[in-house]
Amino acid sequence: MKISENITRIISQVPSSVRLIAVSKQQSVEKIKEAYNSGIRDFAENRLQEALEKQEKLKEYSDISWHFIGHLQTNKAKKVLENFCWIHSVDSLKLAQHLNKIIDDISVSPHICLQVKIMSDPNKYGWSSEQLWKDLDELEKCKNLTINGLMSILPLNLSSSESLYAFQKVQNLAQDITEKSSLFLKELSMGMSNDYLLAIRKKTTMIRLGKAIFESR
Ligand SMILES: *Cc1c(COP(=O)(O)O)cnc(C)c1O
Repeated sequence: MKISENITRIISQVPSSVRLIAVSKQQSVEKIKEAYNSGIRDFAENRLQEALEKQEKLKEYSDISWHFIGHLQTNKAKKVLENFCWIHSVDSLKLAQHLNKIIDDISVSPHICLQVKIMSDPNKYGWSSEQLWKDLDELEKCKNLTINGLMSILPLNLSSSESLYAFQKVQNLAQDITEKSSLFLKELSMGMSNDYLLAIRKKTTMIRLGKAIFESR
């Protein structure tokens, strides 16, 4: 399967309301162009330096929306704010407050998702739902941030029913927070190559696909 065939198949499975994001980390600029030519306009990267190099080479492709999905260190925050439309991986209060502070000095404010881990997983970054509730007051004070939704990465090797359960919990959490705070979490960034069809059943609004797009099957 070529990239274009992968994309055609995926587009036929995904409602048009769901934003299909191609995770192009470790993929060449040529492959990104191939995906672009098949209709993809959203690309995600997890390393700043690699992303900046690709963005430079793809300058003419000015209708691409770039998404940052990697763990973000505070010393790189300014560059990420300036070069991405979306940051999916805001994973701590400290980072959120840091972003809020530097946005005062620059004139951009990308869309932000708060990264949550619905099942405890020491190898992953993000808020537990408990911790997120505790930090809500402080997050609401970050007035410069455009907080639009929640992002989650599920542990590998869950059964389908476990994945559905976890996605449902993310959805419920976003709804509860929207009802009980001043945040409006209308976006859900959940679903990767191995579980995106399940995420769509649980009303995700964005899916982040790497292998399903770029690997031949
Ligand atoms: C790599 C990555 C993806 C894509 O994973 P695939 O299994 O290749 O679809 C999605 N989200 C994040 C945060 C990633 O790091």
